Amino acid sequence: GRGSQWDLACHPLSARRKMVVLEDLSVRVSVARAHADFVANASHELRTPLAAVLGYVETLEDDKAGGDPDTRKRFLGIIRHEAQRMRALVEDLMSLSRIEAVKHDAPTDPVDIAALVREAAGEVQDRAKVVITGNGDSAIVAGDRGQLAQVLRNLVDNAIKYGKADSPVRIEVDNSGSGRIAISISDDGEGIAPEHLPRLTERFYRVDAGRSRAAGGTGLGLAIVKHIAERHRGWFDISSRPGQGTTATVILPLKKEISPSE
Ligand code: ADP
Repeated sequence: GRGSQWDLACHPLSARRKMVVLEDLSVRVSVARAHADFVANASHELRTPLAAVLGYVETLEDDKAGGDPDTRKRFLGIIRHEAQRMRALVEDLMSLSRIEAVKHDAPTDPVDIAALVREAAGEVQDRAKVVITGNGDSAIVAGDRGQLAQVLRNLVDNAIKYGKADSPVRIEVDNSGSGRIAISISDDGEGIAPEHLPRLTERFYRVDAGRSRAAGGTGLGLAIVKHIAERHRGWFDISSRPGQGTTATVILPLKKEISPSE
C-alpha cells in the first residue's frame, strides 16, 4: 500500500539509496498495475462470451423459445461461436504464460525457415492463396519450432482476417547474408492508421474491437509474436499504408555456422 512506500522512503538511508528504493518501488507498482489491468481485461474478455452462452442456454431450456427447430439451430450456432471464442482466448493466454515461463532459456532446435514458411502456407491453403517469394534456402535459426510456427500462423491469420478477400497473402523471406533473416507477411487490406502502430503488440489492443471479435480474434496475437521474436533475440515490426495494405515482419538471427575444424 501507499503507507509502506513512505515508511521505506523515510528509513535512515542515504538520499541516493532512497532514490533507488523509490525508483524500484515505482517500477514494481507499475508492473503490478499492468498485471492487474491484464487480469481485468482477460476476465472481461471471457465474461462476455460466457454471459452469451448462459443466456442462450437458459432460453433453450425455456420450452416456448427452445421448441422451434430453427430457433434452436440458430441459438446452438451462437453458443458454438461464443464457446470457440473462449477456447481461442484460453489457448492464447496459455501460450503467453508458457512463453513467459521459458523466456530466459535460449531456444535450441535447428529450424529450417523455408520449410516452416511452406508449412504455414500449407495450413491455410483452403482459406487463402499464399505466394512465397525470396530466398530462405538453407537458412537455419536456433529456435523453438512450435513457437516459430505460431508466429507465422498468427501473422498469416491476421493477413487473411484483415486482408482483401480475393487477394493473395504474400510471404517474403529475405536472407540477405547479414546473419539475420527477415520474414515479411503482406496483405492488400485496409491497412492501419499510423497512430495505432506502436500499440498493436500490447495485450488486447485492437484497432476495431468489433471486427477483431467477429473474425475470431483474441487481441493477443501480436503480443505473442513480439514475445516469441524477443525470446529468439530478434524483433517484430509492422508497417502499413492505410487503404493499401500491411506488412508484418519478423527478424531473427541465424544460427552461427560452426566449421568442422572448430
Ligand atoms: P486480433 O486477435 O485482434 O487480430 P492481434 O494482436 O493479432 O489481435 O492484432 C491486434 C490488432 O492489430 C487487430 O485487432 C487489428 O486491429 C490490427 N491488425 C493486425 N494485423 C493487421 C493487418 N494485417 N491489417 C490490419 N490490421 C491489423
